[in-house]
Amino acid sequence: GSVAPRALLLENPHTNADPILSRAGLEVSRHPGALDEDELIEALDGVDILGIRSGTQVTERVIEAHPNLTAIGAFCIGTNQIDLRAAARRGIAVFNAPFSNTRSVVELAVAEVIALTRRLTVRDKALHSGTWDKTASGSHEVRGRTLGIIGYGNIGTQLSVVAEALGMRVVFYDTAEKLALGNAHRMGSLSELLAVADVVTLHVDGRPGNAGMFGREKFEQMKHGAIFLNLSRGFLVDYGALREKILDGSIAGAAVDVFPNEPRRNGEPFESELRNLPNVILTPHVGGSTQEAQENIGHFVAGKLAAYQRSGSTDLSVNLPRLTLPPSAAARYRVGFVHRNTPGVLALVNQTFAEHGANIEGQILGTLGEIGYVVTDIGSELPREAVAAVSEMEDTVRLRVMT
Ligand code: NAD
Repeated sequence: GSVAPRALLLENPHTNADPILSRAGLEVSRHPGALDEDELIEALDGVDILGIRSGTQVTERVIEAHPNLTAIGAFCIGTNQIDLRAAARRGIAVFNAPFSNTRSVVELAVAEVIALTRRLTVRDKALHSGTWDKTASGSHEVRGRTLGIIGYGNIGTQLSVVAEALGMRVVFYDTAEKLALGNAHRMGSLSELLAVADVVTLHVDGRPGNAGMFGREKFEQMKHGAIFLNLSRGFLVDYGALREKILDGSIAGAAVDVFPNEPRRNGEPFESELRNLPNVILTPHVGGSTQEAQENIGHFVAGKLAAYQRSGSTDLSVNLPRLTLPPSAAARYRVGFVHRNTPGVLALVNQTFAEHGANIEGQILGTLGEIGYVVTDIGSELPREAVAAVSEMEDTVRLRVMT
């Protein structure tokens, strides 16, 4: 009989991934740690689907050694550890979990907004060092205060909803057109937001153009005594300027979860100009790190891999054209076809199928740069020669027949 396709999971993604992959017909094995390039190349023998987290680099060399991999699941948010273009050129679909930890980031931000507005960190530190300092000075409720959200994406919008539930007024600024949720108010510019916000929180993405976007002049536009949070990316903010503003009292507090240079391993020393400042909360990039987020990620990424394995759906793939063909009762075979995006490929494929008597019941095409992807349902027999003929076409990257 034929061998079941195999999935190999590295770096311990949540165990809820395994039954999801098994139900898609995959035989799942695990290796607890990350693997280096040579170890990975060896471990991938006979593997169809690879699951990793942020510690395993999937380089072009790995992909060239295993061009028949079907898909890679990054059980995390980032995909920098994978050579996405090399994977696309070989027709290997890559999936990640872009919003499985959104709620975790939002809850940390809310906790910090309250803690800083209340000067909780100052009271806490004083009492731990044996000083009883009962005072209302500088402590506020968040109710009625204005939260300025910069970047109204997955995290920004979710935070908007939760902050309004606490009675905060929400204003936001986003470079893209965004629907304002609840009573949130869209600001026409970043300056307008900075002029009114009691708390400024940064939730933009890490595109290169955003590097250094929040520098000294931005801090200077903030209200006196306002609070600043960054749980997005470290390289977006001038922390030297933030330090000065904290020390001269113009910024009343800050929470920072992300840094331009983050230690790679637990236990490595951490250097930052923000250490040992009053009313500044520092956390080691744990915004998305909760048990719940790990569980969501396991479920989400395994679901995407299973759907691709079974039905060829590339919904939310990070490197192949995204498409989903609904199942058709008349279909006997489904063919996933990755090809170089050149004129006439689709016509040639369909002509080849027709010449071999294969009847098309449904079809969908998407392209992304140099790569095209077509899913076709065949309602008749699919002769072996038809598959062979399409496989051998010049612009074919990958042909996968699902039943
Ligand atoms: P997202 O892509 O859904 O939203 C980002 C939003 O920012 C988009 O609406 C975009 O239009 C907007 N934007 C981009 N550049 C802008 C600019 N210069 N000015 C105004 N708006 C701008 O991303 P998300 O999922 O909400 O994540 C937001 C950030 O949080 C990302 O940087 C992400 O890497 C980071 N993040 C951190 C953690 C953590 O552990 N601390 C966890 C998850 C995500």
